[in-house]
Amino acid sequence: MQRPETDSAVSRRIVVLSAPSGAGKTTIAHRLLARNPGWRFSVSATTRPMRPNEVDGVDYHFLTEDEFRLKIEGGDLVEWEQIFGNFYGTLKSEVERVLAPYDGTRLIFDVDVKGALAIRDAFPADAFLIFVAPPTMEEMRRRLMMRQTESPEAVERRIARAEMEMAMRQYFDVIVVNDELERAVAEIEGLLA
Ligand code: ADP
Ligand code: 5GP
Repeated sequence: MQRPETDSAVSRRIVVLSAPSGAGKTTIAHRLLARNPGWRFSVSATTRPMRPNEVDGVDYHFLTEDEFRLKIEGGDLVEWEQIFGNFYGTLKSEVERVLAPYDGTRLIFDVDVKGALAIRDAFPADAFLIFVAPPTMEEMRRRLMMRQTESPEAVERRIARAEMEMAMRQYFDVIVVNDELERAVAEIEGLLA
């Protein structure tokens, strides 16, 4: 683990989790939210199809491409990216609700590495960036296949992007290896407590 100035991490209201697909950041985010009642999830907008276990408005705001383009044109997004052929973006409304006025709420983001850096640029005083790393690339591939949400081609596309994502971990405030889920969640809670 790389340890940043942990004192300052405690006061950050925006906690960004990024990782290569399959490393386990969504699982970690769900655990953190279940155990910390004052924390909320920043629900991103996306054009990707909904997975069977997902709920519109809870996991993502699922939009058509036309609806997403309107959000871009309207200036409604803090940042957005095209990833694996779909659009993903952070809605300004999600962040504004939490940041003004400050009520002690912490906002958890699950975004890609470029999105994480854009969020830091937008909220430099409030953002704390956590890179969730898989223990090994083989284990990441195994987790992606076990999840059974992607076709074999889509799994390969996600793994191909992982190299770029892993190279960007140096820009994060801390790297947490998701070896044992409970241990990784406790490590993150320890940084933010
Ligand atoms: P991401 O959001 O980073 O793409 P997910 O949270 O969907 O990844 O996790 C990918 C798969 O790996 C899921 O099936 C999840 O249950 C599993 N998983 C997550 N963390 C661990 C862990 N520490 N050990 C084993 N499996 C895990
Ligand atoms: P998935 O399709 O597995 O839910 O997400 C694919 C990738 O898109 C993940 O890296 C996820 O973190 C990222 N992502 C989700 N929401 C956003 C967002 O609002 N902005 C950006 N830049 N990436 C996002």
